[in-house]
Amino acid sequence: MDLDDTPEQAAHRTKVRAWLEEHKSEAPVLQGPGALTDEDEIIAARRAWQGKLAEAGLAGVTWPKEYGGQGLGPIEQVICNQEIARARVPGILDAIGVGMLGPTLIAHGTEEQKGRYLGAMLHGDEVWCQLFSEPAAGSDLAAVQARARQQDDGSWRLTGQKVWTTNAQFSAYGLLLARTDIDAHKHKGLTMFLVPMDAPGVTVRGLRQISGEAEFNEVFFDDVALDADAVVGGVGNGWGTALTTLMFERVTIGLGGEGLGFNSARFAQAIAADPHASRDPEVRRQLGEIAADLLAVRFTGYRTLTELQRGQIPGPEAGLAKVTIVNGAIHAGELIADVQGPDALGEDSEWAYMISFLPGLKSAGGTEEILRNTIGERVLGLPPEPRLDKGIPFSELRAKEAAKA
Ligand SMILES: Cc1cc2nc3c(=O)[nH]c(=O)nc-3n(C[C@H](O)[C@H](O)[C@H](O)COP(=O)(O)OP(=O)(O)OC[C@H]3O[C@@H](n4cnc5c(N)ncnc54)[C@H](O)[C@@H]3O)c2cc1C
Repeated sequence: MDLDDTPEQAAHRTKVRAWLEEHKSEAPVLQGPGALTDEDEIIAARRAWQGKLAEAGLAGVTWPKEYGGQGLGPIEQVICNQEIARARVPGILDAIGVGMLGPTLIAHGTEEQKGRYLGAMLHGDEVWCQLFSEPAAGSDLAAVQARARQQDDGSWRLTGQKVWTTNAQFSAYGLLLARTDIDAHKHKGLTMFLVPMDAPGVTVRGLRQISGEAEFNEVFFDDVALDADAVVGGVGNGWGTALTTLMFERVTIGLGGEGLGFNSARFAQAIAADPHASRDPEVRRQLGEIAADLLAVRFTGYRTLTELQRGQIPGPEAGLAKVTIVNGAIHAGELIADVQGPDALGEDSEWAYMISFLPGLKSAGGTEEILRNTIGERVLGLPPEPRLDKGIPFSELRAKEAAKA
């Protein structure tokens, strides 16, 4: 199956390719000669480029037309991503907002929230961040401890800490999961909030990674006042709202792999450029293994796309695409580093960022172990992991866990 299998989709690809051909000279240069170096300039240029992509209908393709999207299917979105990668221009800056948080607002937000926030998000005027993970709540996300307490006038006061918050340093808003009822079971006492990042009491501190960038942050909330209408999806429904975001997160990473350049033809080109490596049987064997995995994941991805296109929700097997694509790209990065030597990590290398960023992608959007557990339990029907927290109020959990340890 090819993505261009209907005349409409082929026409869509032609239109997208023509627009990119005409406008790619306006895209910010992020790598190689003439690349922007100042972080503020990079962000400003990427926001402006996102605005142009949105105007041209290349961002938020699956969003309903009434919120500025194209009302098209996920296949048309993947076609856009593939063409953006082919044109070698950056995609949108706010992939988290447009890919995950916007769809969550569309599914659970009020009409006022959708009208106020979605347009500015899509055009890059207001960037968003995902305030879910905490120092003691990553894989076990339902363990979040950030507390929001409702006031007599219906407003809220928020206190707590989040971590690994990508893009918080330039975000206007965040979608935050907080505990609002400590006497309820841990999945039930949660509520999702929309938080202005410039509110008094919000502090953002950058965390620098091995790749040199400081893309994510710790964020502290010190008695932050939130309006009553900051709740998204209803009080106590935070877990269900969060699951929508997580579903879009896995699909975004799993299906976005080719858009990120994790493509076996590209890996093969880099290796073929070295005459010794291209004849080496072991290098060829490893490249074949990577290509087979990535091809298998592409077809699994097409099945997921077909489900999404028909309005179905992808099952837990979508996590398999994420695990396979990230591992395939890590394996390819290691092979390229073996072939090219230290040059692969040099400043001008197109591989340096991928090689140093990918290990982090193993954790983002669900770690490999957690996704394998989910696939084992929910796809293969293996016995579930032992649970210590079933039916116990959150306020009693720590004492129970300590007693059993
Ligand atoms: C690049 C990147 C960007 C991110 N961006 C964001 C963001 O914008 N917003 C946000 O909220 N979060 C973000 N995160 C955080 C991400 O969601 C968490 O890293 C992830 O959920 C794992 O949580 P943790 O890091 O706390 O690891 P932990 O949950 O502490 O896990 C540590 C290790 O133990 C293993 N483990 C844990 N529980 C089990 C189990 N039951 N069975 C088997 N193994 C287990 C894990 O697989 C892992 O190897 C980002 C992370 C990365 C790497």
